[in-house]
Parts: sequence; structure tokens; C-alpha cells
Amino acid sequence: MASRADALAPPEVMARYEAVIGLEVHVQLATRTKIFCGCPTSFGAPPNTNVCPVCLGLPGALPVMNRRAVEMAVQAALALNCRVNPVSRMARKNYFYPDLPKGYQISQYELPLAEHGWVEYELEGAARRVGIRRVHLEDDAGKSLHEGFRDSERYTYVDLNRCGTPLIEIVTEPDIRSSEEAYQFLTELKQIMQYLEVSSCDMEKGHLRCDANISVRLRGASEFGTKTEVKNLNSFRFLRMALDYEIARQVAVLEDGGRIEQETRLYDVASGTTVGMRTKEHAHDYRYFPEPDLLPLRVSDAWRERLRAAMPELPAAKRARFRSEFGLRDYDVEVLTASRELAEYFERAAAASGDPVEASKWVQGELLGALKAAGKDLAVSPVAPEQLGELVAMVRQGHLSGKMAKEVFAKMFATGEPARVIVEREGLRQISDAGELERVVDEVLAANPKQLEQYRAGKATVLGFFVGQVMKATRGQANPQAVQELLRRKLASPAS
Ligand code: ADP
Ligand code: ZN
Ligand code: MG
Repeated sequence: MASRADALAPPEVMARYEAVIGLEVHVQLATRTKIFCGCPTSFGAPPNTNVCPVCLGLPGALPVMNRRAVEMAVQAALALNCRVNPVSRMARKNYFYPDLPKGYQISQYELPLAEHGWVEYELEGAARRVGIRRVHLEDDAGKSLHEGFRDSERYTYVDLNRCGTPLIEIVTEPDIRSSEEAYQFLTELKQIMQYLEVSSCDMEKGHLRCDANISVRLRGASEFGTKTEVKNLNSFRFLRMALDYEIARQVAVLEDGGRIEQETRLYDVASGTTVGMRTKEHAHDYRYFPEPDLLPLRVSDAWRERLRAAMPELPAAKRARFRSEFGLRDYDVEVLTASRELAEYFERAAAASGDPVEASKWVQGELLGALKAAGKDLAVSPVAPEQLGELVAMVRQGHLSGKMAKEVFAKMFATGEPARVIVEREGLRQISDAGELERVVDEVLAANPKQLEQYRAGKATVLGFFVGQVMKATRGQANPQAVQELLRRKLASPAS
């Protein structure tokens, strides 16, 4: 869709402008039950089955805060370097929508759970930082399904299963300057949430949703321009395309002498454009007021610190450690830390192998390759990390050649057996033992007097023939380097 944006304003015009972007990201928390009732949050249940008087907003039903949701939100906020407020307040945000039976969302307004954080991530090799304005807790609405047809009329159905699912909203400062930067930031944010296991961040299931606030200004200007808010960015790819389009659209309007209207726009996937939806309502339209059915939310220092202590190592710290501790290249570090699960697998394999760099190659090459080919997740890998580490160690110690090890790995993957068992059963070890090899070498030399004569007469290439014969005699199990060395030594001494 870059061409869509290009058509609006040519590159030399775009170059005179700078984009200013702030994101509002909704993350669905991975609690088992909803935020104010005991209904399950499971995805894909038949419509309107995971509901009760509380999440249906029936009169008289009272919400009770889910402790687990608060814990996850606090951990998310801490990971985003926010200050967690000791007291925050839930607030009613009043609006009507068919998938919101209460007639209001329970969110936070003046006193959010946490504020003043930041996320650091890499952009083209340099560290960049985006400020986090606030992180607050809120409940989700249901879903309107525009999918029914009857008598050629279009029907909309409402599924309230999602009502009351816990969300956190993360609002950034307007610190982002390009679509690429927005993409990198969101990737980092997603990875942090996944490491914390506070959300699966599955965009297809709507567990991670992002709205983008966008304005443009002439490069060097100190004031921000008027912003628009673009909604419906339900994939990383769409986010990038929508931002590129909207930035170019705004530049074209300004170049035309026009003004940007503050409005909400929708990204239209089919046309690759953004279209005006409504001019931005102002906050007071929602008539926010403190939620009378819930007490203020108190997070004591002790509770907060317990939650902090229970947090895993986060992606940035893990990447830094993998570089310094294991001496891995940036690319390998990226791949191996993509998920916490993979990073932990690698570390266990590395420890068992005694050679992190080799272990990194095996994890990325053989293991990920085999999993992909088999359509399996790492969680159900037939080869445990310690088993892979042991295999790598066997190569390192010269018990197996690299080629044999690959065969052994394929069998480990197929059967789940450890390398040792397979090697033993199939007699697959590599012969590096000098005494054992010497016997075979002597036999080969004795059996081929003609070639021996040729070598002695100066035909050096015959060495390869002897190596081949030894490999054949040992069914490929001789260590080729050891064989070559032994042959050179033997052939150099006239005694043999
Ligand atoms: P509103 O009152 O319209 O909701 P806020 O000040 O609350 O605006 O900001 C909402 C989001 O918009 C934040 O992510 C913020 O970083 C971003 N934002 C604010 N001003 C601008 C601007 N001029 N250009 C781009 N993004 C902006
Ligand atoms: Zn319920
Ligand atoms: Mg706002």
C-alpha cells in the first residue's frame, strides 16, 4: 500500500514533514475469569453462554474486582517502568452501544493505576525510547457480529461473552516519529506482555488492539499539528500501512492549503485508505464519574514489590545477557529471545552442551526446522533441551561427527529417545581412539600396496583414497580429521 501513500504526496514533499504518533493499546489480560464476576474468559464459546447478571449489567448486580487482573496489570505497568499509584479509582465512562448492556464501561480516568513509564527498543541499531503516559484497567464490551442475512436483509447479532473481560489500556506519549518506529515499539510491547504471561497478545483474537493518534508538522517545527485518531488496526501490517497512508493524506491536505480536522478515522482494509468516521467526541461527553460500586483500588508497597519480585527476566535484559554471557551475534539473539519459551529452551540446551554458540546453531537449525516441518510447537518438542545439549556435547567431544549427529537428531525427534540410546543401539559412535584407528589404517595400507607405491612416488592425492578406504572400513564412523593425521604420520615414516 506504499503506492497509495506515494500517490498522495511525492517523496520530496514528504521529506519536508515529520510525523508525530501516539498509540493507545488495549491488551486483554489472561485471567481465567472476568474482571468483575466469575464468568470464564475462554474464547470461542457459543454466543451469550459465558454471561451472568454482573457482566450483563442487570439491575442490582454488583461488581467485585478480580485480584488476579490487578496483579497482572501491576506487573505490566512495572515492566513498562511506570510509577504504580498506591490508590487509583475506577470510573464510569458512559456511552450507549448495543454490545454494552450496562450503558457504561468501567474504566479509569483521573487516577489511573500507573503513570510516567517508558519503553526502550531498538530502531536501526540505535536505542529509542517511547514514554508511557498511563496504564489503566478497564472492562471490555461484547461483540456485534455483522454476519447474518435473512430475506436478503443484513442482520447484526450481539455476543456478550466478551463483556467484562479484563483489559489494560496503555497510552503512549506522542514520541513516535514513523510507521516503522510504531511497528518496532508495538513488537517490543507485545514481547514484554508475552514474557510476563499477562496476555497472549494474539491479535487475531483481539487480545492486542491498537488505535493510533497521528499528526504531521514541518520538520523543525516545535508545535504539534492537529491529530486524527485511526482505529481498526488489527494487525501489525495494517498498522504500518494505515500510518503511512494517514501521514501522506495529512501532508497532502496541508500542501493543498487545507486544515486537518480532529476526527476519528477507520482504516479500510479493502481500499488501503483511512476514512472519516466521526469528529472526535470530547472526554466530557462520556460524563466520567467515580464508580460508586467499587472501592478505590489500593496497591500497597509490599504487594507491588512482591509482584515485581515474581516477574521474569524481560526481553531487553535477556537480549543483553545473551550477548555478553554467550557471545552470540545480534541476529541469533533476536531469534532465540523471540519468545521466553524458546529463550529458556536454548539456555537449558546451552548449559547441557557446554558450548552455547554450537547449541544456538542446533536450536535454530535442526530443532526449529524439525518443529516447523512437523507443524509442532516448542512446548511439545519430542527432544528435551537437555537431550539436545547432550547431542551437541557428543559432537564437541568427538564422539559423533556433525553428519552423524544430524542423523541421530532426526531419530531423537522421531522417537523421543536420548542420543546415547540411539548411538548405542545403532553402533553409531565416531571412532577417534588412536589405537583403534591405527589398526584399521594399517589394514588399509597393507591391502593396497599399489596405491602405497604411487603415494611414495609423489602422488599426494592418493591420501584421499586411503581416507576413503578407512571411512568405508569403519562404516563412516572414523573421525576423518584423526584418520588424515594418522595417515600423514604413518606415510611420512619409512618404516610403514
Ligand atoms: P485526547 O484528549 O484527544 O484523547 P490525549 O492528549 O489524551 O488526546 O492523547 C491521546 C493520545 O494521542 C496519546 O497517545 C498521545 O500521545 C497522542 N497525541 C496527543 N497529541 C498528539 C498529536 N498532536 N499528534 C499525535 N499524537 C498525539
Ligand atoms: Zn459474568
Ligand atoms: Mg484521551
